[in-house]
Amino acid sequence: MPLAARPYVLTIIGGGFAGTALALHLTRLPGPLPLDVALIEPRPLAGPGLAYSPPRPELLLNVRPAGLSLYADEPAHFAQWLAHQPEAADGVPEFAPRATYGRYLAQELAAALAAPAANGVRLRHYATEALAAPLLPDGRRAVQLADGRTLASQATVLALGNFPPPPPTGPDHRYLHHPGYHADPWATGSLARIGATEPVILIGAGLTAVDMLLALRAQGHRAPVQVVARRGHWPAAHGPASDPCYPNFYPELAAEPTVAATLRRVRRHIARAATQGIGWRAVIDALRPDLGHIWAGWPLAEQARFLRHLAGRWSQVRHRIAPSGAAMLVEQTASGYLRTVPGRAVAIIPDRELLRVAVARAGQPAQWLAAPHVICCAGPLLDYSRITTPLVQQLRADGCLVPDALRLGMQTDANGALVGADGQPSTGGLFTLGASRRPAYFESTAVPELRQQAAALATVLVERYHAQAH
Ligand SMILES: Cc1cc2nc3c(=O)[nH]c(=O)nc-3n(C[C@H](O)[C@H](O)[C@H](O)COP(=O)(O)OP(=O)(O)OC[C@H]3O[C@@H](n4cnc5c(N)ncnc54)[C@H](O)[C@@H]3O)c2cc1C
Repeated sequence: MPLAARPYVLTIIGGGFAGTALALHLTRLPGPLPLDVALIEPRPLAGPGLAYSPPRPELLLNVRPAGLSLYADEPAHFAQWLAHQPEAADGVPEFAPRATYGRYLAQELAAALAAPAANGVRLRHYATEALAAPLLPDGRRAVQLADGRTLASQATVLALGNFPPPPPTGPDHRYLHHPGYHADPWATGSLARIGATEPVILIGAGLTAVDMLLALRAQGHRAPVQVVARRGHWPAAHGPASDPCYPNFYPELAAEPTVAATLRRVRRHIARAATQGIGWRAVIDALRPDLGHIWAGWPLAEQARFLRHLAGRWSQVRHRIAPSGAAMLVEQTASGYLRTVPGRAVAIIPDRELLRVAVARAGQPAQWLAAPHVICCAGPLLDYSRITTPLVQQLRADGCLVPDALRLGMQTDANGALVGADGQPSTGGLFTLGASRRPAYFESTAVPELRQQAAALATVLVERYHAQAH
């Protein structure tokens, strides 16, 4: 049956983890649900998205298999799938390749695309980009696709994921046109342009920089790599899976209105845990289910203070790497391949085949580094006032998509409905999930949080369907 023949179309724009998880959760809800779900994803294979598409076995997941099921109510789903894969021939890997996880997502989705679900939901993948989603007079949205088709949708979900990092220095942007400047670390073929003996500078020392080091090494790169790291720190490593847990102490934090008071309490618990032989990681992990509540409990000024003073340090202790990645950093530093340069990149100047990077550190003269390649590993662009894709521009211009005050994502209500320029939740059925919801949760990045959002939004969308259909 063609899509138009069924009355209710729900369009999900973006077929990475978040869009895929939402589509799959919709297929598992009680029926009958005569919905057509259109999943718009320009990659030929929907499911893996940006994080799990690269076919690079050296890039590992930073979460153990037990935390990576697509379905929060079936926590062992991924671990059981993994146990039957070739990667588990010598035992289930503690940190599996991200590409393996991409295969899991693609397989789950492919099975759902192949036939209508038992509840009546029918999924279809459109391998193209959505360019605009203007409101129609009848309250639906006309989702316009780059291949010329238009889908009239009763509900439209933005699952757009992460956008490439913004330029790390300005106002002189001539370096953006230099062939050795890699603005998007995830752009296909970017690293292939780097010769084995060409030195590299990485801007940023987070998870992306760790990935770049692993990928460069895997392709035989052997020239020095210098990494500009604000505080000179790398992400912490995961401890052993057998580490003891620490009890959740969120009720103590719920009443703390400031970042400083929250931090003091967390530090006290870390000290207390240490006296019981429990490490700091367990204390941080104990709060994971309530991180969104802690963030939402702070007034805007405190959230801004957290972003200014603590977010970097938080990211380092919260978003950890596999122990093998940490060992690689130690080994590469000891061998002289890797040098960490503390400070902030403040200027990048093209100089014939080289790029020169000025690194500033409080109270010290700028230090200049030079290399034929600079890779920007500064983290994704979250500020929706600066995102220039056609869809985002159109929704912003129409007043349907409003960036939040701290420029972390989009303004939404508690259900993920976009809040428009009129301050009201969208009546045109416009929702979002994923990194765009950082204003509400701050932690809105990793699989465990996103699958919760997907499950909750699936329920909201089905309630909306029932309300409209009856
Ligand atoms: C490199 C990397 C590694 C990561 N590793 C981990 C990890 O190990 N564990 C973990 O828990 N989390 C990890 N994450 C966090 C990751 O963000 C989430 O796990 C998850 O993949 C995010 O999914 P998403 O669907 O929101 O975004 P994405 O996977 O980025 O998917 C968004 C999709 O939207 C599509 N899209 C955008 N605009 C349009 C449009 N206009 N029309 C149609 N389609 C559009 C894009 O093509 C893209 O495929 C990683 C993130 C990155 C970037």
